[in-house]
Amino acid sequence: TKVLLTGGSGFIAAHILEQLLAKGHSVVTTVRSEEKAAKIREAYPEKVASGDLVTAIVPDIAQPNAFDEVVKTPDLEVVLHTASPFHFKFSDPKELLDPAVIGTTSILRAVAASAPTVRRVVVTSSFAAIVDEAHVRDPSHTFTERSWNPVTLDEVHKHPSTAYRASKTFAERAAWDFVKDPANGARFDLVTVNPPMVFGPVVHYLASLDAINTSNERMVDCLRGKWREEVPSAGPVVIWVDVRDVAEAHIKAGLEIPEAGGKRLFVTAGLFSNAELARIARKNFPEDADRLPTEQTKGGELPAENERFRFDNSETNKLLGIKYRSLEESVVDTIKSLKKYGA
Ligand code: NDP
Repeated sequence: TKVLLTGGSGFIAAHILEQLLAKGHSVVTTVRSEEKAAKIREAYPEKVASGDLVTAIVPDIAQPNAFDEVVKTPDLEVVLHTASPFHFKFSDPKELLDPAVIGTTSILRAVAASAPTVRRVVVTSSFAAIVDEAHVRDPSHTFTERSWNPVTLDEVHKHPSTAYRASKTFAERAAWDFVKDPANGARFDLVTVNPPMVFGPVVHYLASLDAINTSNERMVDCLRGKWREEVPSAGPVVIWVDVRDVAEAHIKAGLEIPEAGGKRLFVTAGLFSNAELARIARKNFPEDADRLPTEQTKGGELPAENERFRFDNSETNKLLGIKYRSLEESVVDTIKSLKKYGA
C-alpha cells in the first residue's frame, strides 16, 4: 500500500515509518527540512533505493496550501497525519493552534481536491481531545471514545497544557466537520487515534537528549537525577500507552481494518505514575542507583482511586485487538534507548 505520512521526524511517526517499511509498504513522508529528510533516508538506504521511501519537504503546515503538492504523488491510498506541535515552549497559543488546525484542514482539503485514490485518512489526535479538565479528579466520570474535551477558544491562555489540549481538540473537530460536510467532496473516510501519554524508545536518528520529545522528558529528568529529592506528580492524566502500540494502531486503523472508518480510537494500556516509573528504573538499572530516586524518596504516587477519573476504551480494544505492552517493558526500553544518547 502507498502511504503518505506527515511529520516523519516525530517520535511517534518514526515508529510508524519503521513498521510500515517492515511490512513492505511504500511511504512518502513529509518533514520540515532537508536536514531531517536526509537523516531519515540514511536510516533506510535500501528502501530509498527501491523507491519505497521518499521524503518531501513541507516547511510549514500552518500554511493553508502546505500539502497541495505532496498529495499529488500518484496512487496514494492512505494518509497518516501525525504532524502537530507537542511542546510547551510557545509565547502565543497560536503557535500551537495554527499548525494543529490549519495543518489538519489543509491536508484534508488537499486530499479531497487532488488525491482521488486515497480511501482513508488517519489523524493522530489525542486523549487531550477526549479529556475534560473539570473532571480529571472525578471518580464518577468515565472517559470513552465518545467523550469530547469541551475546551473553548477563550480558555487557551489558562495554562500551556490547556492550549495544547485545545489545539488537539479543535484540530480533531475540524477533521470530523470536514468529512461530514458534503460540500468538501471527501471521497475518503476518517479515523482518529487518540493516545494519552506516550512512552517508549526513541528510534529517532534525529534525537538529542536536550530536544527529546515531550512525553519522554520525564524519563530524561529521572535519569539526570532530578527526581532524587522528590518524585514529581505526573499531573492528572495518569494513563499511558507504548509508542510501538500507537504506531501499530495507526497502521491497523489506516490499512488493515476497514471497519475502523469513522471511529475515534482511544488507545491506552492503563494507569501509570511517576513513582512507578522510578521503581521500574531502580529495579532494572541498579548501576544507576546513585542518580535514581531511592526507595525512600517520596512523591509521584498515583492519585487515590476516589481522586481520579475512570476510562473505558473497550470499543477500541475490541476493534484493534492490540495486546498492549506493559509499563515495565516500555520504561526499560525507553531508558535503554535514552542511554544510547548518553543519558
Ligand atoms: P514530536 O514532537 O516528536 O513530533 C511532532 C511532529 O510534528 C514532528 O515531526 C514535528 O516536526 C512536527 N511538527 C510540529 N510542529 C510543526 C509545524 N509547525 N510544522 C511542521 N511540522 C510540525 O511528538 P510526538 O511524536 O509525540 O507527536 C506526534 C503526534 O502525536 C502529534 O499530533 C501529537 O499531538 C500526538 N500525540 C502525542 C502524544 C505523546 O504523548 N507523545 C500523546 C497524544 C498525542 P519537527 O521534527 O520538525 O519538529
